[in-house]
Amino acid sequence: MININIETTNLLFDSAIEMGCKAYKNEMLCNHISFKVGGPCPLLIEPKNEKQLTEALKLIKETDTPYIILGNGTNVLVLDEGLDKVVVKIGDEMTSLSLEGEDVICCSAGTKVVTLCKFALENSLSGLEFAYGIPGTCGGAVFMNAGAYGGEVKDVISEITYLTPQLELKTMPAEEARLSYRHSVFKENGCIVVSAKFKMKKAPQEEIKAAMNDFLSRRKDKQPLEYPSAGSTFKRPEGYFAGALIEQIGFKGKALGGAQISDKHAGFLINKSNATAKDILDLIKLTQETVKKETGVTLEPEVIILR
Ligand SMILES: Cc1cc2nc3c(=O)[nH]c(=O)nc-3n(C[C@H](O)[C@H](O)[C@H](O)COP(=O)(O)OP(=O)(O)OC[C@H]3O[C@@H](n4cnc5c(N)ncnc54)[C@H](O)[C@@H]3O)c2cc1C
Repeated sequence: MININIETTNLLFDSAIEMGCKAYKNEMLCNHISFKVGGPCPLLIEPKNEKQLTEALKLIKETDTPYIILGNGTNVLVLDEGLDKVVVKIGDEMTSLSLEGEDVICCSAGTKVVTLCKFALENSLSGLEFAYGIPGTCGGAVFMNAGAYGGEVKDVISEITYLTPQLELKTMPAEEARLSYRHSVFKENGCIVVSAKFKMKKAPQEEIKAAMNDFLSRRKDKQPLEYPSAGSTFKRPEGYFAGALIEQIGFKGKALGGAQISDKHAGFLINKSNATAKDILDLIKLTQETVKKETGVTLEPEVIILR
């Protein structure tokens, strides 16, 4: 499956290391995505800051090498044969958090949402309690307009700094980011989220902590967090709940190979026992077809399949 030529891979690898990035050749992507499935990519690069990110992308583009951006890999599926692209991971290596004035939090795209929430709590800042427990990065959360328990990124984000496909660094107010249910302008324009600002409200720390703990315990009660997954498999179809439709067709607990519709929460497809990406994809397809046939409702995956 890997066709990117070895000279290009070596050139990009050596340059990435020289720039100060972390880089791995022939890296198994199952180690980088929460479903714990997926084959190799020829090269995975982890920049530590915006400068390294820009330089690495410049070289990737100059060599006409296909690439994709990965955050914490908690909303994606990689095929068993892997991905014939350079993966640029904006994750644990590219993090920063700071306060601007009293109530604005600035964070780099690789910062985990959970770390951002804890920082908000430490500073008695309210607004992100709903997000406590979402396992992605801030970049991924902006890209997806992540949300839970009636809140979404859209409600608190004020500004986004991003790289255009021409590698210009730009900033937009959040109102221009076309944030809606699991959607942002970044799904349309190929721009890369580099950092974001969140406009928060001062509130008593105990209240923020109580709300965060409440949301986290609801997750633990309802979600199969003990198994690898990518969270909700399908988007919420208008007027319905995906999990309820899946229960209605009798698919709660349905297994295919090592993949299973969770018997704890039908909205989650889990890697129950050494599933392949094919098992997961086949179960997604079977569920979509059966729900369509028996209820007339179209289920659209929330999980992004990286090809
Ligand atoms: C147990 C569990 C619970 C979850 N609960 C929720 C929930 O309550 N609410 C919710 O909304 N989601 C939830 N999710 C899904 C997931 O955590 C979110 O969608 C999260 O925002 C994805 O972030 P990520 O960094 O993992 O992105 P990834 O999965 O790595 O990437 C997702 C997409 O974003 C793109 N991307 C990532 N970073 C950037 C960037 N910096 N710039 C441009 N594009 C980028 C990628 O190319 C990819 O297309 C859950 C997942 C799991 C496993």
